Amino acid sequence: MINFCEDCGKKNTLEPKEFREGKAVFKCMHCGYFNAYKMDSPKTGKLGKINLFLKNNLTDPIIIGAFIFHLKTRVVINHMPGILKDSDLAILGKLLTDSYTLCHMQYTDIDELTLHISEKLVTIQMIDHNIAIVFVTKKSPLPKKIKKQFSDLISTI
Ligand SMILES: [Zn+2]
Repeated sequence: MINFCEDCGKKNTLEPKEFREGKAVFKCMHCGYFNAYKMDSPKTGKLGKINLFLKNNLTDPIIIGAFIFHLKTRVVINHMPGILKDSDLAILGKLLTDSYTLCHMQYTDIDELTLHISEKLVTIQMIDHNIAIVFVTKKSPLPKKIKKQFSDLISTI
């Protein structure tokens, strides 16, 4: 089963024996970080939950796509249309998170940043200090219902 390292965000394949007392316990094969995070079932990791949410909610016609950007490892989940490669998204993600960080230093109550680029709206939101989500929509912002469900999800993980 695939689990994401809490520190670097990279994928690790776990054996069943690495799940102990409701926790995923493993040393990351990429950065060596010792992970021991709460996990009730294979799909309850933070990124797993977000991925599932995206799979279920990106069918709204107003949404072009979304991706999750990890500040250290770049693109970790990609639900964008194929035109943009991971390397393009990584550049976009870096640009957006840099802009967000800069704005946030000045105005700490900012919790999302939206850019209007050629008929598209690009919205970035930080999920935690390392992970950002980027939604790309057609002209109008993310539907309120989806936005609300997403912030409810984030507040529980
Ligand atoms: Zn790691």
